[in-house]
Amino acid sequence: MLASGSRGNSAIVASVSTRILVDAGISCREIFKRMKAAGEEPHALSAILITHEHSDHVYGLATLAKKLKVPVFMTGATHQGWARAVRDEKGERPEVARLELFESGSSFQVGDIQVTPFTIPHDAADPVGFTFRAEGAKIGFATDLGYLPASVRDHLRGCDVLVMESNHDVEMLRGGPYPWSVKQRVMSRVGHLSNEALAEFFASDYDGGAAYVVLAHLSEQNNHPAIARGAAEKALGSRQTLLHNRVLLAVQAEAMQPIRF
Ligand SMILES: [Zn+2]
Ligand SMILES: [Zn+2]
Repeated sequence: MLASGSRGNSAIVASVSTRILVDAGISCREIFKRMKAAGEEPHALSAILITHEHSDHVYGLATLAKKLKVPVFMTGATHQGWARAVRDEKGERPEVARLELFESGSSFQVGDIQVTPFTIPHDAADPVGFTFRAEGAKIGFATDLGYLPASVRDHLRGCDVLVMESNHDVEMLRGGPYPWSVKQRVMSRVGHLSNEALAEFFASDYDGGAAYVVLAHLSEQNNHPAIARGAAEKALGSRQTLLHNRVLLAVQAEAMQPIRF
């Protein structure tokens, strides 16, 4: 996890032979810096995948794609939304030289990693989460979603690593500084997942099989790392062992230590 939160998101999923960047929501310069800090070489990336067109997921995309010239995968609607919103220094629409369009629900292959995009409820054109399969392991990735519908819960079964949004504490959001309209948006069915909603998933539906659970996209205003961790750990309960359900927090300011398994 290179960066996580409302000021920018980016992560790397890698097998021995393939390296994928998931979202490019911080500047290209910052992505390069954090990749190097995490022992990753930017020019070794095989592809960039985009979950949705909100700026905290695409801010550095145009520059990064131009520099690395790797394929960029997104849905057609996400691409349209992105191209409509972004202009380069000359006021022109940025283009991605190697655009690869995918459809939610249809798996595709990047090197030896099988990618399955699935629809998530969020207020963007065509937002997706992903599962990644390679070398007998499965990683689930679900941030920026207002709630966890049954279809998303299904995709997240059998994961070895789960990256889940734990955006806000409901009471902190209610009593916090955001204008009411923004609070309503965050709390809505197409907003962001609360600590409480994630805890409900962990307690009721989650199969408990992941080695690591990464809490991501934490709000800096309406959450606190200790509160998010406490809610998740309480819900996971005795299923937390040395081998299972170790809770990690992805943060905004720096890259997380890489998870290797
Ligand atoms: Zn978003
Ligand atoms: Zn976001």
